[in-house]
Amino acid sequence: MLFVQGEIMSHRMNESNPEILIVDDDSSVVITLHQVLQDFGRIRFAATGAQALDMIKENRPDLILLDVELPDTNGIELCLMLKENTLTSDIPVLFITSNIETGFEEKVFDAGASDYIVKPLKPRVVAARVQTHLAYHKALIKLSKLAHTDSLSGLANRLAFDEQLDIEFRRARRQREPLTIVMIDIDEFKKYNDHFGHVAGDDCIRLIGRELNTITKRPADVVARYGGEEFALLLPNTEQNGAHTLINHLMTAITDLSIQHAPQAIYPIVTVSIGFTTLEPLSCNMDSFSATDIVEIADQALYQSKDEGRNRVTYGKINV
Ligand code: GH3
Ligand code: MG
Ligand code: MG
Ligand code: MG
Repeated sequence: MLFVQGEIMSHRMNESNPEILIVDDDSSVVITLHQVLQDFGRIRFAATGAQALDMIKENRPDLILLDVELPDTNGIELCLMLKENTLTSDIPVLFITSNIETGFEEKVFDAGASDYIVKPLKPRVVAARVQTHLAYHKALIKLSKLAHTDSLSGLANRLAFDEQLDIEFRRARRQREPLTIVMIDIDEFKKYNDHFGHVAGDDCIRLIGRELNTITKRPADVVARYGGEEFALLLPNTEQNGAHTLINHLMTAITDLSIQHAPQAIYPIVTVSIGFTTLEPLSCNMDSFSATDIVEIADQALYQSKDEGRNRVTYGKINV
C-alpha cells in the first residue's frame, strides 16, 4: 500500500518470496525443516531466542516455526512477546514440540500461536500446515490493505487514519513528543461537481490527494482521505512551526495546480481551507486531551477558515 505509511506498512508481506524463520537449537530439526520448506520461500534460522529477536527486528518474517524449549528462553515467552508488539503481533507462529503434556495445547494457543507441529516431524504434515498458514496470512494482509485504503484516491482511508492516530497519540504522550493534525477541505466543491460533473469531481479529489501525498514526505506521516472532499494529515513529531511551513507549501502546490473552478465559485481556481493543531508537550498538559479532542480542535479551526472566506489556514490553539 503505497500511501498508507507508518505502522501499517510493516504488515506487508514479502510478496513473491515469503520469509520463514525457524527457531530451534536442534540441528536435525533444522535440517529436516529446511528440506521440507525450501521451496516455499526464503528460510532463515535462529538457535536461540535472542538471535531470533535480532533477526525479526532486521527483517520481519511471514511465518515463524518456534521450538518450545530454547537454550536461553522458553518459546511460549518469546511468542507472548511477539504477540504483544504491534509490529510483530500478526506474524503466524507455529510451535514445534516433542511432548504434548496436559495443558500444552491451551498454553500454546493462549500465547497466540496459530498452530503446533509434533515431533518426529512428518514432512507432508509440516508442508501442509506451513502452506495453510502462509496462505491465510497473505489473504489477511490483502484484506487489511483493502480495508485501510480509499479506493478513489489510493490514500489511507478514515479507518487507517483513526487507527494510526490512536497509535501516534499514545506514542506522543509516552515520549513527550509533539503531534500535529491537519484537516483539509476543498472549497465550494459542490459547485465544482454541479458544474463539471461527478467524474471530473473525482479526478479533482484524486489530483489534490496526490499533491498532498507528494509533499508530505516523512515515513511516519499519514495522508488520508477523511471523507468526501476532505483530507486529514497526521504528522508525528512535528511542531507547530514545522507544520505551518509544510501547510504553506501545500497551499501553494494546490493553487499551482490551477484547476479551473466553477464560474459560480468565489475563486477562479480550486482552493482548500485548512485547520490544524499541534499537541505540544511544553505548552499543554497532554494528559488532559484525547485523540478525538485534538481532531475536534483542528476541525473547528477548519470551520473558522471557511467562515473567514476560505482558501486559508487557521491554527487551532489547544487551551491548557
Ligand atoms: P465548503 O467550501 O463549505 O466546503 O463547500 P462545499 O460545497 O465543498 O461543501 P459541501 O459539504 O456543501 O459539499 C461537499 C460536496 O463535495 C458534496 C459533493 O458534491 C462533493 N463530494 C463529496 N464526496 C465526493 C466524491 O467522492 N466525489 C465527488 N465527485 N464529489 C464528492
Ligand atoms: Mg530445543
Ligand atoms: Mg468543501
Ligand atoms: Mg466538506
